[in-house]
Amino acid sequence: MVLVNSYTVINPATASVVTEVGLATVEETDAAIERAHDAFVAWRDVAPGERARLLRSFAAVVDEHVEELARLEVKNSGHTIGNARWEAGNVCDVLNYYSAAPERLFGRQIPVPGGVDITFREPLGVVGVIVPWNFPMPIAGWGFAPALAAGNTVVLKPAELTPLTAIRLGELAIEAGLPEGVLTVIPGKGSVVGERFVTHPLVRKVCFTGSTEVGKRIMAGCADQVKKVTLELGGKSANIVFADADVAKAAATAPYAVFDNAGQDCCARSRILVQRAVYDEFLGGLETAVRGVKVIDPGDEASEMGPLVSAGQRDAVARYLEGVEPAFTGPVPESDGFWLPPTVVLTDDTQAPIWREEVFGPVVAVMPFDDEADAIRLANDTEYGLSGSIFTRDVGRALRVARAVEAGNLSVNSHSSVRYWTPFGGYKQSGLGRELGPDAPDAFTEEKNVFIAQD
Ligand code: NAD
Repeated sequence: MVLVNSYTVINPATASVVTEVGLATVEETDAAIERAHDAFVAWRDVAPGERARLLRSFAAVVDEHVEELARLEVKNSGHTIGNARWEAGNVCDVLNYYSAAPERLFGRQIPVPGGVDITFREPLGVVGVIVPWNFPMPIAGWGFAPALAAGNTVVLKPAELTPLTAIRLGELAIEAGLPEGVLTVIPGKGSVVGERFVTHPLVRKVCFTGSTEVGKRIMAGCADQVKKVTLELGGKSANIVFADADVAKAAATAPYAVFDNAGQDCCARSRILVQRAVYDEFLGGLETAVRGVKVIDPGDEASEMGPLVSAGQRDAVARYLEGVEPAFTGPVPESDGFWLPPTVVLTDDTQAPIWREEVFGPVVAVMPFDDEADAIRLANDTEYGLSGSIFTRDVGRALRVARAVEAGNLSVNSHSSVRYWTPFGGYKQSGLGRELGPDAPDAFTEEKNVFIAQD
């Protein structure tokens, strides 16, 4: 079947056609936004306990479909089956976590003279969530779960490349008993559906995850209606390895901090800074680890890295390697899909594109540094500030460096970035606002203040 206004979904591991997905027009988007607004009027008045129950029911239905969703993501996005199961499970966890929020959306009682002052957390209305292609399921859930919990309705636009799991999640929401119009998935182009979220007056907040370039346009567009906006944008995060670290552990784990999801991860530690005294030792361990990354069919249980999401993305990443001599690379399968090997480049040029720009592929640049101050200076020499890792056995140094690096999510002796219990977001041009963590529902509310005179 060939739809007139449609997108052909391709399996990135094989380059074969998966299916056609219709793309919404502006008129269809407007109609969906209006339906979401009608649904909001009822949804905001659903008793907190009932809204909580519906979110738990949605989580349970997602849980029953984790394997189906994961297989769909392997086919659509080329994610490894292990990652894809985690991603589907994350949607379930995030829904369960925020299902506790409707019953805990507390206001405050503030001491004032002459009466009582209380505050309320009120929902905004329709929230537009715009999702990138690199983590279609989790990023959708980080937007819709707290937004729905706070009493908003949601219109969600998946990336053109990767709409299949979002469409399925929209169906599962209905199956779980969410009323029609509470969560609406609208596949379409950024320039059509995404832009309409920005310009339609009934959309009261835009939650955007994607490139810094598009994020800036969205922020400027939202200014026109003083529309709330959350931006989760690009990154160029540093993995800093001090000489006093467990160097073997740092080297063995570094590939997974950048090559996970074939490097298409906003939190990828794509710059590795290594203290000069252990530079050679670290590189030796890194080479062994990189050569051992299992780059195989993402549907294989043992797969650790799959293909890039599209031919275009593979070519964009490959352009960064033109004229660059890699120090070493990992394996790559012979296949029709969009594959590149894990690639390690050594550099001492802080102006090199590979050091400065978000490559968004399986490429990492390694640079030596001299001392703590040097490491902090190099780590912060970027317009981004999303995440980063610090490897050291010195607790004082770990704290000093963690406080000094200008990034929203840092991990010491680990590469953890995203835990749904904790806030996630960027400094500088990596973003605006925070997602996840205990406060996320507040970001989908207005705080209303009411004073009641006692006389
Ligand atoms: P992108 O900016 O091209 O697209 C993101 C989404 O925005 C897509 O759904 C796209 O259709 C839509 N869009 C495009 N143009 C638009 C417009 N004019 N108006 C409204 N919507 C529009 O990004 P991408 O290539 O899909 O994703 C990769 C980028 O996302 C990387 O830079 C990555 O770092 C970033 N990212 C950030 C985070 C984070 O949490 N900070 C997480 C994942 C990805």
